[in-house]
Amino acid sequence: MAISKKTNNRKMKPESLMMSFGYKPELSEGAVKCPIFQTSTFVFKTAEEGKSFFEVAYGKRELRPKEVTGLIYSRINNPDLEILENRLCLWDEAEDGAVFESGMAAISTTVLELLKPGDLLLHSEPIYGGTDHFFKHILLKFGIYSVAFMPTDSKETIIKNIKATGKADNLAMIFIESPANPTNDLIDMKMCVEIAKEFSTKNKKVLTAIDNTFLGPVFSHPLKLGFDLVLYSATKYIGGHSDVIAGAVVGPNTLIKRIKSFRSIMGTMAGPWTGWLLLRSLETLKMRMTLQAENAKKIAEWLNNHPKVEKVYYLSLIKKGSRQHEIYKRQCLSPGAMISFDVKGGEKQAFKVLNALKLIKLAVSLGSTESLAEHPYSMTHAPVNDELKVKMNLTEKMVRLSVGVENYEDIIADIDQALAKI
Ligand SMILES: *Cc1c(COP(=O)(O)O)cnc(C)c1O
Repeated sequence: MAISKKTNNRKMKPESLMMSFGYKPELSEGAVKCPIFQTSTFVFKTAEEGKSFFEVAYGKRELRPKEVTGLIYSRINNPDLEILENRLCLWDEAEDGAVFESGMAAISTTVLELLKPGDLLLHSEPIYGGTDHFFKHILLKFGIYSVAFMPTDSKETIIKNIKATGKADNLAMIFIESPANPTNDLIDMKMCVEIAKEFSTKNKKVLTAIDNTFLGPVFSHPLKLGFDLVLYSATKYIGGHSDVIAGAVVGPNTLIKRIKSFRSIMGTMAGPWTGWLLLRSLETLKMRMTLQAENAKKIAEWLNNHPKVEKVYYLSLIKKGSRQHEIYKRQCLSPGAMISFDVKGGEKQAFKVLNALKLIKLAVSLGSTESLAEHPYSMTHAPVNDELKVKMNLTEKMVRLSVGVENYEDIIADIDQALAKI
């Protein structure tokens, strides 16, 4: 028997289940840890069993009561992926999930399965560079249009802009990223759900999807706020050690089933080794994210009082009473561990700081155990048009920091000596 979600009538928290949920030692020689099922294919007991597995896999019939999906071939399913998907779902209390070989594979596979030519996609801006390119260039090749909105836009403005496209009847999905990278602007999920409702009809539900890479799955639970799908670059906090590229999506059975079928055809599923690495990472996810956020809070406050720092973009520093603060209270359980800050000056001063860092590594990516710093204007956000960058406060004086699990006083000392170089 796989471990249940309860002990002594108490519903266990996800962090208590990350070491065991969904894995049956007796099926793997009693191994306490889930092995790496490094195999491309699986042996059927009989031809009849093989036939029956395929009937379910190709949707010819539904699973019978108590029947479990049979293992066929690792592009379709694999124990490391299934157990990982079951565990990932616990954080968001999702019905089902699917894991991929990258965050971009999760995003592209999901969107391509759920949208069709002629559809309109509404998305928040700024959005991850790869996603931005996929929406604005690749989707267009398939006749799928997109329209963007800024974090400061009101519901009325957004609705007006949707109607101005002339394709409002074809609005099929709202895709957001919150907090936005690198400015930490929050997008109001409640507002997005309302807009989706407004454009839904009896025959068509406008879907809401969020890239929850920055705060999830520990500090933000969009499904509970009415979103349909939650996507992750598992390369970041979920993986957490800068040693694997992976992605995930969780949501209702009906949608995930479709996404998984499409994943089998596109071949974007994660491999067993990636699955195993993420299973290992999930065991320490809450611990890592909690410490990283505690470190970040102290570092952000310290930066906020530093004479060479002009402005700090961090969720715990949002002004009380503002609309952003109201959204923060509603949808975030913690400010997380991503900090951006403007140094006094421009690119020259920002580069001086980046070049002087010793403990903190100069690299893109985020969410790992080690602290990383980068220059969004010329690096992660280089392809974004300059006018838009300025409009969203993303200027040449900005440094983005992903806070790790090191001792926070050591991190502060490192930034302090680097700022002294200006
Ligand atoms: C890194 C990242 C992605 C892309 O994920 P990959 O795993 O690199 O494919 C998507 N969204 C956000 C917010 C990211 O940070």
